[in-house]
Amino acid sequence: MSSATSLFGNYARSDLEFDRGHGVWLETSDGRRYLDCGSGIAVNALGHCHPHLVEAVKAQAEKLWHVSNLHRIPEQEELGARLTAATFADKVLFCNSGAEAMEAAIKAARRYFYDRGQPDRYQIITFEGAFHGRTLGTIAAGGQAKYLEGFGPKAPGFDQVAAGDLDALKQVMGPHTAAFAIEPIQGEGGIREIPTEFLRQLRQICDETGCLLIFDEIQTGIGRTGKLFAHEWAGVSPDLMAVAKGLGGGFPVGACLATEEVAASLVPGTHGTTFGGNPMAMAVGLAVLDVVLAEGFLEEVQTKGLSFKQKLAGLVDTHPDIFEQVRGRGLLLGIKCKVPAGEFVGAARAEGLLAVPAGDNVVRILPPLTITEAEIADAAARLDRAAARMEEELAGKGAA
Ligand SMILES: *Cc1c(COP(=O)(O)O)cnc(C)c1O
Repeated sequence: MSSATSLFGNYARSDLEFDRGHGVWLETSDGRRYLDCGSGIAVNALGHCHPHLVEAVKAQAEKLWHVSNLHRIPEQEELGARLTAATFADKVLFCNSGAEAMEAAIKAARRYFYDRGQPDRYQIITFEGAFHGRTLGTIAAGGQAKYLEGFGPKAPGFDQVAAGDLDALKQVMGPHTAAFAIEPIQGEGGIREIPTEFLRQLRQICDETGCLLIFDEIQTGIGRTGKLFAHEWAGVSPDLMAVAKGLGGGFPVGACLATEEVAASLVPGTHGTTFGGNPMAMAVGLAVLDVVLAEGFLEEVQTKGLSFKQKLAGLVDTHPDIFEQVRGRGLLLGIKCKVPAGEFVGAARAEGLLAVPAGDNVVRILPPLTITEAEIADAAARLDRAAARMEEELAGKGAA
């Protein structure tokens, strides 16, 4: 047994210790198997140890790991070309995490106006329930008091309004407004879908005022909703987009995507990263896209997502004291609970299934995109047993 006492206590960790993974399954050192419907929080998009990713890592590890961004990195150019070919974007900047991708988007947006002689245009408007990361900049962007508390003054230039509230938005807008940043579906906030109409309205306001639209697709992207990016469902394109999580399939990779015009503001010296976009990370990103962009893969995510969502809806019907509602799209699903979501996650774990709690008392169900129909049925059966387990507990409390 290793000791956890050497670590910062910033996580309330379970005491599960996994030492291997295969597909949707994680296995502890003593041989217990868990069906992973958390995917390391939407990271293991292709499950654990996907053979194509393992092969890509091994091949790259024997060739070249890291060179600095002072030199050309062909693997980076190739992944950039594939991302731009598949999206609204003309340019890509690579980094190592979601928060860094958002920071890059925020900096690019502000610098864009600075370059146009409008340095006072720095305000970024974001939306209640948002999550954009844990750096000082991105906790200010997210605006949630629980993440800001105790960390000194909130970085200026960020204001939050309720998603969907156009009047509130117009009230905080002014000559300082540079951009809006929004997750097409709030992940951490509880799998809350932003209505398509509101995304369209934001795009229209941006087109009228010259403001920039930033999509945070760190959780929703790389096929999670059954499209490469969730905003494709709404038919609304951003000017900047933050991507991470699934892009590396478990290897830390982030990216900020932008139109040519906006990307042009980050000239040499304005921004940088030591590790971002190194050959090792790029090899994995390329391998992830090989699979996600293969013909038929995203359609399958859509089909499997519908099937899983139907099964979850069935569970809401059979366990009305435990569950309230099913949310989400593709394999970015959530169950709003009547019992504390954290307790349900514990009951699911006791049935050998891993899920992730979110805001708004929601349990997130984010399996690898490679999950099979049989595994979806298995997952639903485990969730059913977990709900029955909680009903027994409730009955026990009622009788006591
Ligand atoms: C996870 C997440 C982030 C932060 O990503 P990190 O890699 O943890 O920095 C930002 N935005 C959204 C929507 C996320 O889901």
